[in-house]
Parts: sequence; structure tokens; C-alpha cells
Amino acid sequence: MPAVTEPQLIGSGQTLQGCLTKMAVEPGAPARYVLRAGEHRLELNACLGKPLQLEWTGAIACTHCGRATRKSFAQGYCYPCFKRLAQCDTCIMKPELCHFFEGTCREPDWAERHCFQPHVVYLANASGLKVGITRASQMPTRWLDQGAVQALPILEVDTRQQSGFVEVLFKEEVSDRTNWRAMLKGSTELLDLAAERDRLLGRLGSGLANLRERFGADAIRVLDESPLSFDYPVLEFPAKVVSHNLDKNPLVTGTLLGIKGQYLILDSGVINLRKFTGYEVRVSA
Ligand SMILES: [Zn+2]
Repeated sequence: MPAVTEPQLIGSGQTLQGCLTKMAVEPGAPARYVLRAGEHRLELNACLGKPLQLEWTGAIACTHCGRATRKSFAQGYCYPCFKRLAQCDTCIMKPELCHFFEGTCREPDWAERHCFQPHVVYLANASGLKVGITRASQMPTRWLDQGAVQALPILEVDTRQQSGFVEVLFKEEVSDRTNWRAMLKGSTELLDLAAERDRLLGRLGSGLANLRERFGADAIRVLDESPLSFDYPVLEFPAKVVSHNLDKNPLVTGTLLGIKGQYLILDSGVINLRKFTGYEVRVSA
């Protein structure tokens, strides 16, 4: 029987090379981050306060099909995959534009596995109050990826499209965006998310009633959950947020001061690793 190759988990003092995928993160006090480059894994919490270097080799591999691409589309795809995959379609970002029922879904089988399953509408606080949606199975990773310090699931619906309609309704009252610069400055004021939920459900009551009329009385279910809070491994937040961009400067060096969302905070600037999914890098820790 062939031996199974275990991903290599390394501590500091080493170099690894591979294509970036988004960091793995688990909640904790603080959250635990693992940088992933190809088969390699680097425990980032152990690198805090130490020098860290990332160098892009110039290569990018599509995160879906693995082929080399000169440019990355939609954070890690080659152009053919970007045009072909349902997960790269506009309706993933704007689920209310779902066109499955018109028979034009790019990949109906994929949609049945990903879009036709329970989705949660949540409130989160990464840089102030925001609304968002996620597949139930993506909690709490979703919030950690955003750098949220608080989150509260408020409604559950049966499909991604329905979650999109609910989100559109909530956007009348609350943003769906995170201000990543504010998130990285770390001075987010804590909110009473349960009170915000009750306030918003009250204000949006008639809109929710309309959606229930359209999709069925049980289609939009109010959840009774307690707010969650998240803690990140950060020694020092930047006073001024300057970002590194591997496309402009392939060599990033500095001392690792923290990790929040999908960002590394270095004393030389911050870098959104998710943006560089598929980039082949050499990492020295
Ligand atoms: Zn591809």
C-alpha cells in the first residue's frame, strides 16, 4: 500500500515553498493560524514577534485545475475556470441573482451540493455592524476569515438564493461590507449584537413577511443563538495601514506582529494572503 504523505508542519527557522491557499484558522484564545503553501504548513502563532519573509517566485497555479496562469482571477483561478465554474459566477457574490431555475446554472450538480442547503444570515462586527450570509457548515471559519471580533447567526433559510434575498432586505438598514483598514487597526468597539438583531427583525418585519409569503411560512427561521466573540494573535496593531502587493513587489519582509482575518500584520505593512491564493511563494520563518 502506498504511504500517505502527511503535510509537513514546520516551526520557525525554516524555509518552505509552494502555492498559497488561504490560511487555516481555528477559534481559540487567541485563534490559531496555519499558513498553507502547497504541501507545507507553517504554524504562524509560533512566528509572532519573529522575522518572516515571503517571496513570490513569479508563478501562479490555478487553485481549481492547477494549470499555470499569468494572472489570477477571482482570487486564485485561471481564466478558463473563472469563466466556467459556478463558484466564480456573479450569483455567488450576489445570491439573489441565482439563475438555477432558468436552467442556466454553470454547474447544476455543484449548485445542488453548495447552494441548495441551509444558509445562515448573520450579524458580525469586524469594523462595525454588518450583515452577511454563509453556508451553515462554514461557521465559524467565515467570521475568522473576516477578522470579526463578534458574530451572531440570526436567521436560517433553505437555499443560498433565499439568503441573498434576506441579505438584500437587511442592506436597507445595515452594511454588508467590512472596512479592512479599520478591522486591521484593532480598535473595533464591541456591539450588543442580540439587541441589534431584535431591532433589525422589528424594523424589517414586513419585508420578512413578504419573503415568507413568497417562499413559504417556514422558509425563513429566526434562530435563538448567543453572540460569539473571537480573539486574534496580535502583538501590535498598525497605527497606519500600508499594504504589501506581491504583483508590485515580490519580496515581503518584516517582523510578524499579528494575524487577523486573512491578513498578516508585519512591522513593514500588511498582506492579504487570500488575495494571493495560487501564488507560488518561498516562505522563510
Ligand atoms: Zn483553472
